[in-house]
Amino acid sequence: MSTPDPPFTAEHEELRESVAGFIDRELAPHSQQWEEDQWFPNDVFPKMAAQGLLGLKYPEEYGGQGGDYLHEAVLCEEMARAGSGGTAAGIGAHINIATPPIWKFGTDEQKQRYLVPSIAGEIVGALGITEPGAGSDVAAISTRAERVDGGFLVNGEKTYITNGVRADFIVTACKTTADGGHHGISFLIVDRGEGVTSAKLQKLGWHASDTATIAYEDVFVPEENLLGPLHEGFKLIMANFQWERLAMALGAVGGMKLAWERTAEFARTREAFGRPLAGHQTIRHKLADMATSVHVCRCVTYDALRRFLAGEDPLKEVTMAKLATQRASFDLMDDCLQIHGGAGYMREYWVERAARDARLGPIGGGSDEIMREILGRVLGL
Ligand SMILES: Cc1cc2nc3c(=O)[nH]c(=O)nc-3n(C[C@H](O)[C@H](O)[C@H](O)COP(=O)(O)OP(=O)(O)OC[C@H]3O[C@@H](n4cnc5c(N)ncnc54)[C@H](O)[C@@H]3O)c2cc1C
Repeated sequence: MSTPDPPFTAEHEELRESVAGFIDRELAPHSQQWEEDQWFPNDVFPKMAAQGLLGLKYPEEYGGQGGDYLHEAVLCEEMARAGSGGTAAGIGAHINIATPPIWKFGTDEQKQRYLVPSIAGEIVGALGITEPGAGSDVAAISTRAERVDGGFLVNGEKTYITNGVRADFIVTACKTTADGGHHGISFLIVDRGEGVTSAKLQKLGWHASDTATIAYEDVFVPEENLLGPLHEGFKLIMANFQWERLAMALGAVGGMKLAWERTAEFARTREAFGRPLAGHQTIRHKLADMATSVHVCRCVTYDALRRFLAGEDPLKEVTMAKLATQRASFDLMDDCLQIHGGAGYMREYWVERAARDARLGPIGGGSDEIMREILGRVLGL
């Protein structure tokens, strides 16, 4: 067992070993097939649930493991071992963005109906915020929820939604006033059913995940599926951003560490001009720079994680961690690919997929430009 790096403890390292073992056995061997299928099977959810991995941070009364965000952080880092950004994204959307608002803002009845079966891997969730006309500018969403007898009637379109085809329920941001915006957005838990249609999108990476456009056409949503207070949905969005971004930073850190180790091993064994690649100074120096980048990203992320766990509101540190890690991860994967030469460009090598998958980081969960805008405000610029 590796020595724990604070804030992780020996208990977390034990969990890490068992999570890594599960992923190596149950997910990693299928990553190439799932990539080609452009789909990972739904039974991954109950398999993960059987190991307790869909409810690490959730209370035992809902079927969770009674752990906290630090246990979840272990899973976020180790998911890179699956070798499939798409699979990690589908699981991540379920546990890191779709179910947390239900846990934090849901009524007990909503938790029984959605959180309990989600933790058990019986149903799959998605978070629907982004629309064709509104991504970074979340307040500009136009999907409408109009009051009708007994609930709401929803009309509109969401896009780029992870788990958008397979999700049984979509935690959906809607305009509930004529103007919408910061004081006119509400969240509804929309069940897949009449009026909800999905269309899968083709994309550069994350092939195993079903990123989709979801259309809502006169979808009736009962009153009891309003999540959190009416018109205060913006608070729900903000409430989970810190964890979502930390989860992405942790995912990048886990992926970078693994990619570096594999690439260093390749450079030690692959020979060119009569010696291992690592015997050439430029390659050796490149690997040293890459190891430094992994360490820097890890330190920035763990610092933000520590503050988050201590109950601070570490907007600056989490934003910096998201910004620092996502582009660095893509750059590192590109360097790994380069060191693999022609092999790196081939589908049969992990690195080709890792490089494509990493490109999403600077875009999703708040783009690099939006991170800089937040930092501009926090830093008083
Ligand atoms: C694979 C994938 C999975 C996703 N999963 C989900 C999901 O599950 N749920 C969900 O709701 N969304 C999801 N998204 C959407 C994602 O969060 C958005 O793509 C992202 O927020 C950017 O929004 P946008 O694509 O509309 O780009 P835009 O907001 O149109 O931005 C376009 C470009 O302009 C830049 N830009 C925008 N505003 C500014 C500014 N003020 N200053 C400087 N530059 C700016 C952006 O950084 C970007 O580079 C996913 C996206 C992808 C690609």
